[in-house]
Amino acid sequence: MKLRSIEGFLVGFSPSPALGNASTFIRRRDFLLLRLTAEDGSTGWGEVANGPFAASGHARAKLPPLLLGQDVTQPGRLFHAMLGTLGYDRRGSAMMAVSAADMALHDLAARAQGISVARLLGGALRDRLPAYASGPFIAEGGDPYGAYPAQVDDLLRRNFRAIKPRVGAHPRKDGTVMRAMRKQAGDDVALMVDINQGYTVGAALESIRHMEEADLLWVEEPLQPEDIAGCRSVAHSARCAIAGGEALGSLAAFRDVLAAGCYAVLQPDLCVCGGFSGFRRVAALADAFDVPAMPHVFGTLVNAHAAIQMGALLTTRRGGGPMPYPFMEVDVTPNPLLTLLGSMDPRADGTVAVPDAPGLGFDLAPERLAPWLVEQWRVEAG
Ligand SMILES: [Mg+2]
Repeated sequence: MKLRSIEGFLVGFSPSPALGNASTFIRRRDFLLLRLTAEDGSTGWGEVANGPFAASGHARAKLPPLLLGQDVTQPGRLFHAMLGTLGYDRRGSAMMAVSAADMALHDLAARAQGISVARLLGGALRDRLPAYASGPFIAEGGDPYGAYPAQVDDLLRRNFRAIKPRVGAHPRKDGTVMRAMRKQAGDDVALMVDINQGYTVGAALESIRHMEEADLLWVEEPLQPEDIAGCRSVAHSARCAIAGGEALGSLAAFRDVLAAGCYAVLQPDLCVCGGFSGFRRVAALADAFDVPAMPHVFGTLVNAHAAIQMGALLTTRRGGGPMPYPFMEVDVTPNPLLTLLGSMDPRADGTVAVPDAPGLGFDLAPERLAPWLVEQWRVEAG
């Protein structure tokens, strides 16, 4: 079955209030959704979730000559062809464009056979994934964590048994808020924190020391990921697991951080590291280092559903917390492009189901994107 057209949908919205982390306040969230259509009319979706504008240009200019008219049931072959377009951009926007196309090609290839992506890739190891709340976020003004207790109450009511707030406003305040959150949530809820690359080595170690009593499952991205020596130093000095990997795009980048012992939990993002094809290579590498891998995901329903399919395929590891790894990250901020077809909140047992429906497990009519559409393009087979 041949590919007939490639469409790009640039969509976005402005969160209010802004979503604060240790590095920035997010005031605008933009995404590129790719829609691939085969000659029989079946479609596949892919996503770029981080700064999609350059990736959109790459996807529109460089990928159609390689993909249009090609057999969509062979996504692995097309992934290798697309890698040839990267040039010097092996870890950035071009790789994100390839990632989105690979995701869409897997959706399409699985739909062509009437099976889920997890089945296409060998079969799911599980039918559910423990969910963790990605949030709450830092507020503007003088009280960065003031709303956290009420927000954590809400998340516990929404069945979350694992919660990952943003910290990094100040090492001592990080300790105060997380000790209080441990008291509030009790011993059976997993607590992690995300520092979003915001600290120096010294501040990260000070923050981790202040948070020790909170018994954290992991501390995520305390430093910039390019600082491999710093990440190694924090990982070796801290008495907790350090997580990271969402910003890494190439297999070589993952090799470098794993060889240096930077992370005890690896979080590749399907939108960044090469879609399903790239993620599977990274996951095999992580297995060789016995580091549990689980998808980072913070975008629309497309990447969320892709992450669930990928999560179903990953090696089980006991990392602590209420259930074994891998976990599924759930954006708990108001995000209409995530909840377009329904809530992503966990069920009463704290898990999300792994759909066995064709492809990524959802059907999205592009007209549904209209309220958030910024720009749209389409390239057809000649
Ligand atoms: Mg993160």
